[in-house]
Amino acid sequence: MTFFMQTYRFPEPAAWGPLLARPAAAESPAVAARVQEIFAQVAVSGDDALRQLAQELDKAAVADLRVSAAELAAAGALVPAALQAAIRQAKANIETFHAAQRVVEAPVETQPGVRCWRRSVPVQRVGLYVPGGSAPLFSTLLMLGVPARLAGCPEIVVCTPPQADGTVSPVILFVAQLLGITTVVKAGGAQAVAALALGTASVPAVDKIFGPGNRYVTAAKQLAAARYGVAIDMPAGPSEVLVVADASANPAFVAADLLSQAEHGPDSQVVLLTDSEDILSKVQAEVETQLAALPRRDVAARALAESRAVLLPGPAELLDFSNQYAPEHLILAVAEPEALAAGVTNAGSVFLGHLTPEAVGDYASGTNHTLPTSGFARQYSGVSLDSFVKKITYQRLTAAGVQALAPVVETMAEAEGLHAHARAVALRRESLEQAALAPSAPETAQAPAFDLGALVRPSIRKMQPYSSARDEFEGAAAVMLDANENSFGSVGDRVFNRYPDPQQRAVKAALAPLKDVAAGQIFLGNGSDEPIDLLVRLTCVPGQDSIAVLPPTYGMYEVAANLNDVRVERLPLTADFQLSAATVEQLARSSAKIAFLCSPNNPTGNLLDPAAVAQMLRRFRGLVVVDEAYGDFAGAPSWTTRLAEFPNLVVLQTFSKAWGLAGLRLGVAYASPAIIGYLNKIKPPYNLSENTQQLALAALGRADHLPGLRQQILAGRTWLAAELADLPVVEHVFPSDANFLLVRFRPDATAVYDALRARGIVVRNRTTQPGCAGCLRLTVGTPAENEQLADALRAIGEEHPAAADAGLGALVGNA
Ligand SMILES: *Cc1c(COP(=O)(O)O)cnc(C)c1O
Repeated sequence: MTFFMQTYRFPEPAAWGPLLARPAAAESPAVAARVQEIFAQVAVSGDDALRQLAQELDKAAVADLRVSAAELAAAGALVPAALQAAIRQAKANIETFHAAQRVVEAPVETQPGVRCWRRSVPVQRVGLYVPGGSAPLFSTLLMLGVPARLAGCPEIVVCTPPQADGTVSPVILFVAQLLGITTVVKAGGAQAVAALALGTASVPAVDKIFGPGNRYVTAAKQLAAARYGVAIDMPAGPSEVLVVADASANPAFVAADLLSQAEHGPDSQVVLLTDSEDILSKVQAEVETQLAALPRRDVAARALAESRAVLLPGPAELLDFSNQYAPEHLILAVAEPEALAAGVTNAGSVFLGHLTPEAVGDYASGTNHTLPTSGFARQYSGVSLDSFVKKITYQRLTAAGVQALAPVVETMAEAEGLHAHARAVALRRESLEQAALAPSAPETAQAPAFDLGALVRPSIRKMQPYSSARDEFEGAAAVMLDANENSFGSVGDRVFNRYPDPQQRAVKAALAPLKDVAAGQIFLGNGSDEPIDLLVRLTCVPGQDSIAVLPPTYGMYEVAANLNDVRVERLPLTADFQLSAATVEQLARSSAKIAFLCSPNNPTGNLLDPAAVAQMLRRFRGLVVVDEAYGDFAGAPSWTTRLAEFPNLVVLQTFSKAWGLAGLRLGVAYASPAIIGYLNKIKPPYNLSENTQQLALAALGRADHLPGLRQQILAGRTWLAAELADLPVVEHVFPSDANFLLVRFRPDATAVYDALRARGIVVRNRTTQPGCAGCLRLTVGTPAENEQLADALRAIGEEHPAAADAGLGALVGNA
């Protein structure tokens, strides 16, 4: 018995219709009715309905619908090491590919005074359906979970059917754990979709449901979308592959690809297009040979019997047919795949050349395998990062913007007969006109428009920047004799004989999506101390201008000012290290060019109240620099998320603290493209070494390690704070949002500092900083280092029980 596809030789385009068609979607009324019943049952009985249906349909007794933390934690031990390693590699590739899909658009001034911008905001609650049962599709959880995580969806609910013993496949749980997903529900089929749409005691209702499934799951997703206001990823049908093979194709490869699709299910769609009679017959022979050896040969044979092989005259017809078919997967097994690929207009995902089977995209190359079927590739895309976000547009007008745009809107609104629209604009325009006429318009709360040009030193505005050889000629050339390098140089097997990319493009491209900013909003410095210095030099005329600082704070701001012969206005923080309203008021009247804020603040460790900082950003006429060197340790959102709102905002971050890369010397300033443009104009030409750039790229490629690093420090901070609180020498441990603790010691902090030093432990003495009398700053270290520190402080107190009365001065020579 031969199993082969229905074969068509040179059909005329007019006769392609039936060959392009999918089997009529089985819109079974019985399925629809059953799904409605299930929705009703879940609506009425919630969790009880889910348990009953698990018993009835999955033959599984499920007591607790939620997978417990213990079950999640135990899963790893049940998954073979080789499979774990494979999954980790696939996850890394999927993350890399999807992370690159984050684009951040810079705000646009569509006309003077009219700023518009757009931000991607994650869908807040998503449900991921992962088919289970006989073949748990853990790869589906990777394909949906990775982009959901990258998009930042706050609530991710996974539903997957229970196995007969009431458990969930350990591989699925292992993947959930890798992704940090903790809500996994033992529910499958239409009832899982109903629960995600309606919500039950155990299953939170979600905004969007993703994932493949059988006819019942598909019908349930459609019902959820039609009746319950839930979005779904895309319409679903049986999986498909279309292989275009020319005479250069390897028949064994082609046959294997056709069979890999056919084994999915008897309704899988498999199409072979070729312009070679020889390939047609050789593929047929290969299919027969390979089919005989397949465990799922019955399923595959049934699918093949429904599938088609079409012989066409040449590449143009092959491409035309494929585009009309709009396959989910398109394999171009031809000698020159790029040429054909460029002509593809309809397909879910395309696999180029003889060495690229669909199977790599199904699992691990990085692209998503959730793709449009049944010809929907004509208008739908596969799942991507975009599937998990909404794009919100924003706009803000200044007075000038209102005055310029009002006549346009009024004219259009009147012409459409929408008078209220016209009035909404006219009222504002008129109020501005009256204010302008008023004899002495009182100072409004609205800040004067920020004017960067006026802030920049005139000499810098006018100067011609240095142009480096590597910037003047950016292309590749066989012989580069333009930068006076020495082509012989190397260090061991590493070659550093070329000047590095002065614009550091690759590092910025990798950093931008991670921080949700555009590459043009990033300046990279040799440590963040470099942008501090450059900002002072950019704006302050030596001997004339000033900056403002808020002590106690980081020392480099004043140093940068002193180095540049720039005055410093000091406006102390309050007793609890916050910005007072009076300080904001004072700054609003100050002529300082820059105000430096540090949040979390060094050395006090606390975040500054964001409302006060925002107020200051509105009122202060100069640049407001928010130094977030410790921002990754705090739970608060970064000020980078508000760059579009404040044209005078500069955010500083560094790789020295949370990333654990102080030796790299890499600091970052985020600001408007205009400010970044000025910093680039005045920076030293090659301020980041090639080595730093390479290591930074490697670190950015492993950014998923950051939460773990941070967690270790936070755990250490909590431990150390608790440990110190009870020690006799400790008077107060200040709360901290950073990776250090500010601690007030009694009776003599400097004596404690010296006693620690004598024991080989150095901390930072901050006793002379305003508001920090008696205080040392202790960096949180490894658990062993923290223990040594705590032990030493305990010993210092215990060895000298009278210390608290007598003073510790006598201790110093003792240790
Ligand atoms: C450590 C620190 C920096 C310096 O960061 P580098 O990038 O290492 O130069 C900047 N600001 C504050 C507040 C710091 O504590």
